[in-house]
Amino acid sequence: MTVGQILGNGPAVLAFDVGGTDTKAGLFDDRGSLVEVVRVPTPYSTDGSGDAVLAQLGVLTERFAARHPDVAPLAAGLIVPGLVDDDAGVGVYAENLGWRDVPFRDAASSALGLPVAFTHDVRAAGTAEYRLGAAGRFRNVMVVVIGTGIAGALFLDGKPYSASGFAGEIGHSVVDVGGVPCACGGNGCLEAIASAGAIARLYNRHASVPVAGAREVLELARSGNAAAASVWDTATDALGLALSQAVALLAPEAIVLGGGLAQAGDALFTPVEERMNSLLTFHRRPVLLPATVGENAGLVGAALGARQRLTEVKA
Ligand SMILES: [Zn+2]
Repeated sequence: MTVGQILGNGPAVLAFDVGGTDTKAGLFDDRGSLVEVVRVPTPYSTDGSGDAVLAQLGVLTERFAARHPDVAPLAAGLIVPGLVDDDAGVGVYAENLGWRDVPFRDAASSALGLPVAFTHDVRAAGTAEYRLGAAGRFRNVMVVVIGTGIAGALFLDGKPYSASGFAGEIGHSVVDVGGVPCACGGNGCLEAIASAGAIARLYNRHASVPVAGAREVLELARSGNAAAASVWDTATDALGLALSQAVALLAPEAIVLGGGLAQAGDALFTPVEERMNSLLTFHRRPVLLPATVGENAGLVGAALGARQRLTEVKA
């Protein structure tokens, strides 16, 4: 989903998805169509501030204004990785980008001269899935994005739940006590076993011919490679376990799986659902749904946030 009417009619808005490697910027017009997406490298901050990122947002905004003078955005949505306090509008911490306690919402609003909505990248993608995707008919939904890492977004009783940015970190719930080290400093986290990055890494530990990604591990498993099958099975078991615990605690009606690994389709969904259900008894069993908004879900969520922000500013 890169063009076409995505959001529906409303104000034109800007959306910025600042990632660990690249920043994506999008311009949505008043029909809700994504007019253009630009991708540039994210500048690393050496001084702990977000100044380099903020300067880049200004440059991208000017570029859109020059190329699309007929589209006048009235607000912007900004999303970043790491630990994000939505209510305070602060990027608390992002290890791989070098910033700490950056008041992104207000700083971006000053830099761009527009109202800015600010949130975590996975919560924005989750919002896009919840508002526009297949899970929209439910009130209790967990969206889990499985890519380089694993993170979740929660919607409880129809509302987003972030707990000052600490909620949703299902990737760092331990599924194997004392297991393989995780980037967070822990051991045996779900992310260290079942993320796309981890699946490739764990296969490569004992492989004579290393693979580039989880997709190749799955292909090897399908062709009868026992080591690859073991890594894949361990990952889907771990996902099923972690989801069963989330079900016991939160009782979501639907769990949406997105991110690169979800493109494996039935090879992921079938064993994860079987494992999860094998661990549940009286619990309400959620439906597992694939994410449907696509690769720009973060941008779409940021744009939804920007339009929402406009209604708050007017109120
Ligand atoms: Zn961890």
